[in-house]
Amino acid sequence: MKQRYAFPLLFLLFIAAETAVILFASWWWFLPLALFIATLLWGSFSISSHLFVPTMCSHSGSGIILSFDDGPHEIYTGKILEILKKHNAKALFFVIGKEAEKHPDILRRITEEGHTIGIHTFSHSPFFGFFSAKKVHDEIVKTATIIREITGVEPSLFRPPSGITNPPLAKALRRLNLTTIGWTLRSFDTLFSNRERLLQRLIAHTEPGNIILLHDRLAITVEILDDYLQSLRDRGFLVESLARYGLDTQDAL
Ligand SMILES: [Zn+2]
Repeated sequence: MKQRYAFPLLFLLFIAAETAVILFASWWWFLPLALFIATLLWGSFSISSHLFVPTMCSHSGSGIILSFDDGPHEIYTGKILEILKKHNAKALFFVIGKEAEKHPDILRRITEEGHTIGIHTFSHSPFFGFFSAKKVHDEIVKTATIIREITGVEPSLFRPPSGITNPPLAKALRRLNLTTIGWTLRSFDTLFSNRERLLQRLIAHTEPGNIILLHDRLAITVEILDDYLQSLRDRGFLVESLARYGLDTQDAL
Protein backbone atom coordinates (compact mmCIF):
# COMPACT_ATOMS: atom_id res chain seq x y z
CA MET A 1 0.00 0.00 0.00
CA LYS A 2 1.29 3.44 -0.92
CA GLN A 3 1.97 5.32 2.32
CA ARG A 4 0.31 8.49 1.00
CA TYR A 5 -3.07 6.75 1.09
CA ALA A 6 -2.59 5.32 4.58
CA PHE A 7 -4.32 8.08 6.53
CA PRO A 8 -7.32 8.60 4.17
CA LEU A 9 -7.88 4.83 4.02
CA LEU A 10 -7.63 4.47 7.77
CA PHE A 11 -10.08 7.31 8.25
CA LEU A 12 -12.58 5.83 5.76
CA LEU A 13 -12.27 2.46 7.47
CA PHE A 14 -12.90 4.10 10.82
CA ILE A 15 -16.01 5.95 9.56
CA ALA A 16 -17.39 2.74 7.99
CA ALA A 17 -16.75 0.70 11.12
CA GLU A 18 -18.15 3.39 13.40
CA THR A 19 -21.32 3.68 11.28
CA ALA A 20 -21.83 -0.10 11.27
CA VAL A 21 -21.28 -0.38 15.01
CA ILE A 22 -23.66 2.50 15.82
CA LEU A 23 -26.34 0.92 13.60
CA PHE A 24 -26.04 -2.64 14.93
CA ALA A 25 -24.39 -2.48 18.36
CA SER A 26 -24.38 1.10 19.52
CA TRP A 27 -23.06 0.32 22.99
CA TRP A 28 -19.70 -0.66 21.33
CA TRP A 29 -19.28 2.80 19.69
CA PHE A 30 -15.93 3.35 21.40
CA LEU A 31 -14.28 0.26 19.86
CA PRO A 32 -13.64 1.60 16.29
CA LEU A 33 -12.50 4.92 17.77
CA ALA A 34 -10.06 3.19 20.12
CA LEU A 35 -8.70 1.01 17.29
CA PHE A 36 -8.36 4.06 15.01
CA ILE A 37 -6.44 6.03 17.64
CA ALA A 38 -4.28 3.01 18.54
CA THR A 39 -3.36 2.50 14.86
CA LEU A 40 -2.47 6.18 14.44
CA LEU A 41 -0.29 6.08 17.56
CA TRP A 42 1.41 2.87 16.43
CA GLY A 43 2.05 4.32 12.96
CA SER A 44 3.39 7.57 14.42
CA PHE A 45 5.60 6.25 17.21
CA SER A 46 6.89 3.01 15.68
CA ILE A 47 9.40 3.95 13.00
CA SER A 48 9.45 0.36 11.73
CA SER A 49 5.67 0.40 11.09
CA HIS A 50 6.20 1.99 7.61
CA LEU A 51 2.57 3.11 7.89
CA PHE A 52 3.09 6.74 6.89
CA VAL A 53 6.72 6.89 5.72
CA PRO A 54 8.83 4.16 4.05
CA THR A 55 11.82 3.72 6.32
CA MET A 56 15.04 1.75 6.16
CA CYS A 57 15.40 0.02 9.54
CA SER A 58 17.89 -2.71 8.69
CA HIS A 59 20.07 -3.78 5.78
CA SER A 60 20.73 -6.95 3.90
CA GLY A 61 24.47 -7.16 4.60
CA SER A 62 26.28 -8.92 7.41
CA GLY A 63 27.78 -5.77 8.89
CA ILE A 64 26.59 -3.37 11.58
CA ILE A 65 25.60 0.22 10.87
CA LEU A 66 26.17 2.61 13.77
CA SER A 67 24.19 5.84 13.86
CA PHE A 68 24.59 8.78 16.22
CA ASP A 69 21.79 11.32 16.71
CA ASP A 70 21.49 14.83 18.16
CA GLY A 71 25.02 16.17 17.56
CA PRO A 72 27.34 17.67 16.82
CA HIS A 73 28.33 18.04 20.48
CA GLU A 74 31.29 20.26 21.36
CA ILE A 75 32.94 17.58 23.56
CA TYR A 76 31.51 14.13 22.91
CA THR A 77 31.32 14.05 19.09
CA GLY A 78 35.10 14.51 18.85
CA LYS A 79 35.69 11.70 21.37
CA ILE A 80 33.39 9.41 19.41
CA LEU A 81 35.26 10.21 16.19
CA GLU A 82 38.53 9.25 17.91
CA ILE A 83 37.13 5.89 19.03
CA LEU A 84 35.67 5.17 15.58
CA LYS A 85 39.04 5.95 14.01
CA LYS A 86 40.80 3.61 16.43
CA HIS A 87 38.54 0.75 15.26
CA ASN A 88 38.53 1.82 11.61
CA ALA A 89 34.72 2.07 11.83
CA LYS A 90 32.42 4.34 9.83
CA ALA A 91 29.10 5.70 11.10
CA LEU A 92 26.09 7.87 10.31
CA PHE A 93 25.67 11.16 12.17
CA PHE A 94 22.15 12.60 12.14
CA VAL A 95 22.81 16.20 13.09
CA ILE A 96 20.51 18.91 14.43
CA GLY A 97 20.71 22.02 12.22
CA LYS A 98 21.03 24.55 15.05
CA GLU A 99 23.87 22.51 16.62
CA ALA A 100 25.62 22.11 13.26
CA GLU A 101 25.62 25.90 12.86
CA LYS A 102 27.42 26.24 16.21
CA HIS A 103 30.10 23.63 15.46
CA PRO A 104 31.09 23.80 11.78
CA ASP A 105 34.60 22.43 12.48
CA ILE A 106 33.17 19.25 14.01
CA LEU A 107 30.75 18.87 11.10
CA ARG A 108 33.61 19.16 8.60
CA ARG A 109 35.66 16.66 10.60
CA ILE A 110 32.84 14.09 10.44
CA THR A 111 32.88 14.11 6.63
CA GLU A 112 36.68 14.41 6.36
CA GLU A 113 37.01 11.21 8.41
CA GLY A 114 34.75 9.30 6.03
CA HIS A 115 31.47 9.29 7.95
CA THR A 116 28.05 10.21 6.57
CA ILE A 117 25.97 13.16 7.77
CA GLY A 118 22.19 13.02 7.73
CA ILE A 119 19.44 15.50 8.66
CA HIS A 120 17.74 15.36 12.08
CA THR A 121 15.68 18.59 11.67
CA PHE A 122 16.81 22.10 12.61
CA SER A 123 15.25 22.52 16.06
CA HIS A 124 14.66 18.92 17.24
CA SER A 125 11.56 20.29 18.90
CA PRO A 126 9.66 18.08 21.37
CA PHE A 127 6.54 19.26 19.48
CA PHE A 128 7.81 17.93 16.13
CA GLY A 129 4.88 15.50 15.99
CA PHE A 130 2.49 18.47 15.86
CA PHE A 131 4.33 20.43 13.13
CA SER A 132 2.63 21.19 9.81
CA ALA A 133 4.04 19.72 6.59
CA LYS A 134 5.37 23.16 5.65
CA LYS A 135 7.17 23.62 8.95
CA VAL A 136 8.70 20.13 8.72
CA HIS A 137 9.76 20.79 5.11
CA ASP A 138 11.34 24.16 6.05
CA GLU A 139 13.29 22.61 8.95
CA ILE A 140 14.68 19.84 6.75
CA VAL A 141 15.65 22.19 3.90
CA LYS A 142 17.26 24.66 6.33
CA THR A 143 19.37 21.90 7.88
CA ALA A 144 20.32 20.47 4.48
CA THR A 145 21.52 23.95 3.44
CA ILE A 146 23.63 24.31 6.60
CA ILE A 147 25.23 20.87 6.04
CA ARG A 148 25.91 21.59 2.37
CA GLU A 149 27.40 25.05 3.03
CA ILE A 150 29.71 23.79 5.79
CA THR A 151 30.84 20.45 4.32
CA GLY A 152 30.18 20.79 0.60
CA VAL A 153 28.22 17.53 0.75
CA GLU A 154 24.51 17.33 -0.11
CA PRO A 155 22.82 15.20 2.56
CA SER A 156 20.56 12.40 1.31
CA LEU A 157 19.52 10.80 4.59
CA PHE A 158 16.92 11.87 7.13
CA ARG A 159 15.95 10.62 10.56
CA PRO A 160 12.90 12.09 12.34
CA PRO A 161 13.29 13.18 15.98
CA SER A 162 12.18 10.39 18.34
CA GLY A 163 11.38 8.30 15.26
CA ILE A 164 8.01 10.02 14.84
CA THR A 165 6.50 9.55 11.38
CA ASN A 166 3.06 11.02 10.62
CA PRO A 167 1.02 12.36 7.66
CA PRO A 168 2.55 15.91 7.76
CA LEU A 169 6.06 14.44 7.69
CA ALA A 170 5.07 12.11 4.85
CA LYS A 171 3.73 15.09 2.88
CA ALA A 172 6.92 17.11 3.51
CA LEU A 173 9.16 14.21 2.45
CA ARG A 174 7.28 13.67 -0.81
CA ARG A 175 8.76 16.95 -2.05
CA LEU A 176 12.30 15.98 -1.03
CA ASN A 177 14.69 13.37 -2.39
CA LEU A 178 15.70 11.85 0.95
CA THR A 179 15.94 8.33 2.35
CA THR A 180 14.46 8.02 5.83
CA ILE A 181 16.59 5.89 8.12
CA GLY A 182 15.20 4.22 11.23
CA TRP A 183 16.90 1.63 13.37
CA THR A 184 16.79 -2.05 14.24
CA LEU A 185 18.17 -1.68 17.75
CA ARG A 186 17.57 1.33 19.98
CA SER A 187 20.36 1.52 22.55
CA PHE A 188 18.34 3.59 25.05
CA ASP A 189 21.62 5.34 25.93
CA THR A 190 19.48 8.38 26.81
CA LEU A 191 17.87 6.40 29.66
CA PHE A 192 20.68 4.26 31.06
CA SER A 193 22.85 5.58 33.88
CA ASN A 194 24.74 2.32 34.44
CA ARG A 195 27.51 1.99 31.88
CA GLU A 196 27.93 -1.77 32.25
CA ARG A 197 24.21 -2.51 31.88
CA LEU A 198 23.98 -0.40 28.73
CA LEU A 199 27.03 -2.11 27.24
CA GLN A 200 25.83 -5.64 28.06
CA ARG A 201 22.37 -4.95 26.66
CA LEU A 202 23.83 -3.65 23.41
CA ILE A 203 26.23 -6.57 23.04
CA ALA A 204 23.48 -9.09 23.78
CA HIS A 205 21.03 -7.70 21.22
CA THR A 206 23.28 -6.72 18.29
CA GLU A 207 22.82 -8.93 15.22
CA PRO A 208 24.20 -8.80 11.65
CA GLY A 209 22.23 -6.40 9.46
CA ASN A 210 21.33 -4.14 12.39
CA ILE A 211 21.20 -0.36 12.32
CA ILE A 212 22.05 0.78 15.87
CA LEU A 213 20.70 4.03 17.37
CA LEU A 214 23.09 5.88 19.69
CA HIS A 215 23.55 9.55 20.65
CA ASP A 216 26.77 11.56 20.35
CA ARG A 217 25.69 14.11 22.97
CA LEU A 218 26.08 11.71 25.93
CA ALA A 219 29.04 10.88 28.16
CA ILE A 220 27.79 7.32 28.71
CA THR A 221 27.83 6.63 24.95
CA VAL A 222 31.46 7.72 24.78
CA GLU A 223 32.24 5.52 27.80
CA ILE A 224 30.87 2.32 26.27
CA LEU A 225 31.80 2.80 22.61
CA ASP A 226 35.37 1.48 22.74
CA ASP A 227 34.31 -1.74 24.52
CA TYR A 228 31.24 -2.13 22.28
CA LEU A 229 33.29 -1.83 19.09
CA GLN A 230 35.86 -4.24 20.48
CA SER A 231 33.12 -6.79 21.24
CA LEU A 232 31.79 -6.44 17.69
CA ARG A 233 35.27 -7.07 16.31
CA ASP A 234 35.73 -10.07 18.62
CA ARG A 235 32.50 -11.54 17.22
CA GLY A 236 33.67 -10.92 13.66
CA PHE A 237 31.10 -8.19 12.92
CA LEU A 238 32.17 -5.45 10.55
CA VAL A 239 31.08 -1.90 11.32
CA GLU A 240 30.41 -0.43 7.93
CA SER A 241 29.22 2.57 6.01
CA LEU A 242 25.63 2.54 4.79
CA ALA A 243 26.88 3.63 1.38
CA ARG A 244 28.24 0.10 0.87
CA TYR A 245 24.69 -1.23 0.70
CA GLY A 246 23.21 1.53 -1.43
CA LEU A 247 20.34 3.68 -0.26
CA ASP A 248 17.43 2.07 -2.05
CA THR A 249 14.85 1.85 0.72
CA GLN A 250 12.64 -0.47 -1.29
CA ASP A 251 15.20 -3.27 -0.96
CA ALA A 252 15.20 -2.97 2.79
CA LEU A 253 11.50 -2.79 3.60
ZN1 LIG B 1 17.12 13.00 18.27
